[in-house]
Amino acid sequence: MSIAFAESEDGQDLSSISTVSELRGEEYFLHGRKRFVLNATLADSFITLCKAPGEGWITLIVERQQDGIAVYPIEKMGLRMIPFGDIGFSEVPVPLESRIGNTGEGMAHVHHCRQVTGLRTAAQALGTAQGALERAMQHARQREQFGKKLSQFQAIRHKLADMAVDIEVTRWLTYKAAIEYDRGKTDHGFLSMTRLEAGRKLVRVVDEALQIFGGYGYIAEQAIEHYFRDAWAIRAELGTEEDQKDIIAEIMLGPDSIKK
Ligand SMILES: Cc1cc2nc3c(=O)[nH]c(=O)nc-3n(C[C@H](O)[C@H](O)[C@H](O)COP(=O)(O)OP(=O)(O)OC[C@H]3O[C@@H](n4cnc5c(N)ncnc54)[C@H](O)[C@@H]3O)c2cc1C
Repeated sequence: MSIAFAESEDGQDLSSISTVSELRGEEYFLHGRKRFVLNATLADSFITLCKAPGEGWITLIVERQQDGIAVYPIEKMGLRMIPFGDIGFSEVPVPLESRIGNTGEGMAHVHHCRQVTGLRTAAQALGTAQGALERAMQHARQREQFGKKLSQFQAIRHKLADMAVDIEVTRWLTYKAAIEYDRGKTDHGFLSMTRLEAGRKLVRVVDEALQIFGGYGYIAEQAIEHYFRDAWAIRAELGTEEDQKDIIAEIMLGPDSIKK
């Protein structure tokens, strides 16, 4: 199953999406195009955000085998094991019972979905950073320069220590956010802090890991350059930094503070 929310003109600002679904009898008819959908070419169904005239935003579960669906693969820099693409809907019939929840709840579903995927992706960022650190340590223990192992140089040891601290910060943020979610007590500001930091720290850790590999970090035959490419994709999946900071600031200052 894939999540199809974003569109080419409306990525972060989903309130102006143009995909529409019109209810005729017991079926919706869906029309529009979704952008940057993970697993687009593999998914059996798409959770699709759209506007329904007179109903507001709704989410539909759209089965892939329906007529009128076209998938357009897109190549991306990292996470190459996960296919990516756009999805076109042309008058696709969707049974009424495939609507999730009630009319007008679409944005609430987006919000909930982003909580869950934000947490899942923070965990993915944590694991990716941990993997990069382990590979960098292994390399530093093996590679010799100036008659010493890299792991004996203080500059390298400090890099490894900084990376370990970054990873522990992500670990504690992610675990705390996950515990709060499990208890039904998600603090949205804290979750955005987790998403923001998990992405920033991942990119920093992976950058240092590449540096420890020197020129070998840049070549495909070493299993480290893909961490760099994946890190950028994972950070994007965590949501844009600007969006997370806006959420944090709005919670700190109050929803009307920007208008005052
Ligand atoms: C790897 C990856 C996986 C994805 N997976 C999915 C998926 O499965 N399903 C799905 O629906 N979408 C997915 N997306 C799409 C993703 O949700 C959008 O890319 C994201 O919301 C940003 O939208 P955009 O790319 O149109 O950028 P834009 O909205 O054009 O933003 C461009 C830049 O401007 C900044 N910006 C925008 N508005 C403001 C503002 N008001 N104030 C300050 N800065 C602002 C943004 O933060 C960003 O840095 C994925 C994207 C990537 C890269």
